[in-house]
Amino acid sequence: MAKSSRETKFTLKLVVDEERKKVVFAEACRDFVDVLFSLLTLPMGTIVRLLKNHRKSEPFPVGCFTNLYKSVVGMGIDDFETEACKQMLLHPRSLRDVECKRLKLNLHPTDGTKLFVCSPYGCDMCSGFSTSRCRCGKLMNKEIPIPRADVVDNIEDGVFVRDRSSYIITDDLKVSVRSTDLVLRKLKSVGCGDLRKVSERLVEIGLDEVMTLLECIFSSNASLTDTFLNKQSPKRVMKPCTAPSPHMVKEIEARPEEVITFSAIVRKHDMKILYVECGEDFVDLLFTFLAVPLESALEISGENFNFGCIENLFKSFKELNASKNSRSKAVLPYYYRWSKQLLNIICEETPFYNSSLCCVIDPKSHGRDQSKKGSGFVKRHTKFTVSDDLIILPMNSSSALCFLKKLESPTDEIQVQEISISKTQAASLLRASLMTSSALKAAFWNSTSKKPKQET
Ligand SMILES: [Zn+2]
Repeated sequence: MAKSSRETKFTLKLVVDEERKKVVFAEACRDFVDVLFSLLTLPMGTIVRLLKNHRKSEPFPVGCFTNLYKSVVGMGIDDFETEACKQMLLHPRSLRDVECKRLKLNLHPTDGTKLFVCSPYGCDMCSGFSTSRCRCGKLMNKEIPIPRADVVDNIEDGVFVRDRSSYIITDDLKVSVRSTDLVLRKLKSVGCGDLRKVSERLVEIGLDEVMTLLECIFSSNASLTDTFLNKQSPKRVMKPCTAPSPHMVKEIEARPEEVITFSAIVRKHDMKILYVECGEDFVDLLFTFLAVPLESALEISGENFNFGCIENLFKSFKELNASKNSRSKAVLPYYYRWSKQLLNIICEETPFYNSSLCCVIDPKSHGRDQSKKGSGFVKRHTKFTVSDDLIILPMNSSSALCFLKKLESPTDEIQVQEISISKTQAASLLRASLMTSSALKAAFWNSTSKKPKQET
């Protein structure tokens, strides 16, 4: 973490209901609102990594994403197509990184995009990862300067919000431009019409407090009270799924031709998916989730998140965001592109620094063989098991009998079903991964229970 980020502090004015010991709202400057909104632009894998570093002994789990991330950590380089594949999942990059450089407190400063060529440079190829192999077979580890795209942002402008006035942030993270009318309404709505009941406190907020806020947006509906008054780690509220898959509110544009098929190992009496046995496509889909920024994960998942303050913060972000780069669709760096992408995201065609100097290679492919362009992250022709809470293991790492024994179900209680998923189910799976600790059950409930029971 850059030293400057460690040391940056903002001052918030908290208006506190002294009787109930609750924050009514906070008054904050534009720079802090930008930092708060930047939480939404973090890739999911980055969120998991930051929260792990924040509370090393007991990291805060984000749905099934923490297990997904652990699965990448636990798999060997040999299980991936290239070393860069593992790297791009553990340290996902976002196209918002450039904007976030201008934040007063940047949660994950990257050293920017780097470009590497083979040494001595004789080919016309370059890669964004120093572990890539050139088509001549040499390692591409010689860094070259990147031709800069000449976008000079006005420093006077905010990063996400432009209005220079101060802002009101409610305890459940609704953000609005400050006005007397709004302040009066807020005070009245919480029964603090009598101003003797409220007091004003000045608090400092630095990196640690922002990290606690990041936990709170997933877990608390009183984020400011929990961060500044209770000063305690929020209690885990993510429930295992007990109901059928949450209804998708948003229409997902149909692209029926692309499907991914896998085998679900199902317990007959309640049709619960115990685990899934699959090839590389399903795992590539799940691993892509780590590269998706939180804002896009929310956009794809539809509405009605019944946890934390996430929905309020996201709505405020959309209302106040004046960024030139605001997009309706998630755009990921080009190297996350792969052929069976079922999520409603797009990948940039070529990197912004694409230059006439060299041809940028797909770091997922091997130097000599560029024919596999658009391949996924994990090694082709590998079988994996995926548990309900999204722990992924290559099948060569555990014995079949050992796996069945762990299920603690008699063999005639277990059946195997083929399931094919398309775009809609992929979005359900992303949503379920965010909201529950039981993603397969929540997302594919309908896929199994509707089927007639057949012996296998
Ligand atoms: Zn070369």
